[in-house]
Amino acid sequence: MPTLPTMRGHRLIRAALAGAGLVAGLLCCLPVTAGDLVRADVERRFPPPLHVGEKLRDLPAWPLTSELQPDAGPVGYAFESIDLAPIPGFEGTPINLLVAIDAGGKFMDVEVLRQHEPVFLGGLGPLPLQDFVRQYQGKSLKQDITVSSTYGNTRAEGGGNRVVLDGVAKATASVRIVNQSVLAASLAVARARLGFADPGSGAPAAVPKPQPFAAMDLAALIRRGYVQRLSLSNADVEKLFAGSEGAGSDAQALDKPDDLFVEVYVAYLNAPGIGRNLLGDAAWARFRSYLTDERPAFWIATRGRYALVDEAFVPGTPPPRLALLQNELPIELRDANRDYARLPAPGELTSALILTAPAHAGLDPGRPMEFRFSVSRARGMILPVVTQKQITLRYTPPAELFDYPPRPLPEWLQAWQGRLPDLLVIGAALLLLCAALLRPRWIALKPRRLFWFRSGFLAFTLAYIGWYAQGQLSIVQITGAVKSLAAGAGLKSFLYDPVSLLLIAFTLVSLAVWGRGTFCGWLCPFGALQEFVAQLAGALRLPQWHLPPRLARLLARGRYAILALLVGSAALAPAAAERMVEIEPFKTAITVGFQREWPFLLWAGGLLLAGAFVYKFFCRFVCPLGAALTLGGRLRRWNWLPRIEACGQPCQKCRNTCRYDAILPGGAIDYDECFECLDCVGIYHDIRRCGPQRLQAARGRPVEFRRRR
Ligand code: SF4
Ligand code: SF4
Repeated sequence: MPTLPTMRGHRLIRAALAGAGLVAGLLCCLPVTAGDLVRADVERRFPPPLHVGEKLRDLPAWPLTSELQPDAGPVGYAFESIDLAPIPGFEGTPINLLVAIDAGGKFMDVEVLRQHEPVFLGGLGPLPLQDFVRQYQGKSLKQDITVSSTYGNTRAEGGGNRVVLDGVAKATASVRIVNQSVLAASLAVARARLGFADPGSGAPAAVPKPQPFAAMDLAALIRRGYVQRLSLSNADVEKLFAGSEGAGSDAQALDKPDDLFVEVYVAYLNAPGIGRNLLGDAAWARFRSYLTDERPAFWIATRGRYALVDEAFVPGTPPPRLALLQNELPIELRDANRDYARLPAPGELTSALILTAPAHAGLDPGRPMEFRFSVSRARGMILPVVTQKQITLRYTPPAELFDYPPRPLPEWLQAWQGRLPDLLVIGAALLLLCAALLRPRWIALKPRRLFWFRSGFLAFTLAYIGWYAQGQLSIVQITGAVKSLAAGAGLKSFLYDPVSLLLIAFTLVSLAVWGRGTFCGWLCPFGALQEFVAQLAGALRLPQWHLPPRLARLLARGRYAILALLVGSAALAPAAAERMVEIEPFKTAITVGFQREWPFLLWAGGLLLAGAFVYKFFCRFVCPLGAALTLGGRLRRWNWLPRIEACGQPCQKCRNTCRYDAILPGGAIDYDECFECLDCVGIYHDIRRCGPQRLQAARGRPVEFRRRR
């Protein structure tokens, strides 16, 4: 029977401790602050084979890796729009959406987390908005995504790179805000992490440098590269249309091929050395006071026949003939002409505009970008055939105007950096555990001391390692590794979860030194939870059913069958394995803290209840991870738990004490079943509890036992 302290009132202490453990659990299960997701919430939305990594330190996003592509690094990112683009809705507070994009910039999912739009709260209800955001799935950030302005769900056609989402009747403005939030947040993540084509794009955005002002005219600005230009003759444009319906339809171009069609000038206006020179002091001052949110602004002027905007252009809107792209990502430009800019058109320039990009759009003003100008030609009077071509001006901002922050560390290293405090705390705990197992005498000698040490450590394992640091090792890590290896991929994805990796590494070493009991007896959060349930059951005097050891050993073989089934199906039928791993209640009880659907709660609760009557029921008879660790424990090199000749021959004291039936009738330890609770170690070192030693001492003989292995 158990050798926990027998002092009066101790049951009360145990009940208090177990209660404290359970209260800590309940506290961890309280709902998260609305609109502020934690990793577990995201994990619920992106189940295996996807794996949700730690939230990045320099970008509020969770990297998504895939068990099927472990070497690919993140296959996508999930993030809350409110963190990246808090654009106020009509009620004044930002709409919050959970957005996920894949590594190619495609939307994996968009979900409304929080919104206060009156039309969706009191009028239409939330469903139309949910339907609206569903349209993003499969669309790409590389596309020009806009919202239909038609009321009702009339489908508006896109064409080319343009995608038009169905709007929501009576809520067009609200869904436009949603679209802006989704795109701005996604572009920020895409700019920071996806880095299409441009190797430098993985670095943070360049920061404009304060510079002493030097007066320059347009010619000097062009010479310095502050203003960049592109010149096209009529002949150049004719060449653009060659072979298309538009070829030969511009009489003026054919008559005077060498005449200028257009010269386009582009400059990054926020830099004082450019903006103040182009606008003049007074307009520059007004411009600065207008542009308080540091939106990137561009001065774009033209000379020649071509006009940037036609007479139908509405001031304050995006100019339809112009698009801005960076790393192939389109970024909306909007006319920002106000009274500050009665724009001078120096020299022969015929028009000039100031255009701004949204502050949250993720444009890096210090890196190359493309301005695309559309030129169209129409052939025919009735139902004319319109042909459109694009002229591209590649604008490279002058490097001397910017500071370029260094590239961030690789993401896996950032994950490690971000978890450094947790790693240090858990590392210290592991060192303490090593000390206890290497020199167990002092801790194990006094039952009370051992009880408190063990209970304290298990409380740490449950609350800190399990619920807080999410370090519950699981059979999923084994089946995931099997799947990855079966697919011929490596195991790099483990790097993205440093806490688990630390525990895995420690457990592997401990298997060779002490056996499976180091993890199962000390480091498994669900095992710790069962321990507290057992303590509570003891305090409540619930009946304890002690299965006959032979029957227990027979039943224990069931977990190997479960393990074989899971590993086999992981290699042969991954989809089935994903369902079957739910036999482990770890996700329900530890990862998501009991916030799951009722069948999962029922299963986890049932196992804990069984553990209240049969000590460590799940560990001993069901757990496939325990079975795998038992097999791994065969690597153990030493029989480190001390035994003497009298153990089992005839003394059965330790055997009767061991609640895991891990001591054989002959006195030897069955390390496959041992959880390293150290109860028998305490008896071995305590002459008052070890019968043969006490007997020898009573006879006045020196206690000389031959230690056996
Ligand atoms: S047998 Fe399973 S549940 Fe029990 S301690 Fe070991 S790993 Fe955890
Ligand atoms: S054999 Fe293992 S589980 Fe049993 S009492 Fe000894 S240390 Fe504890």
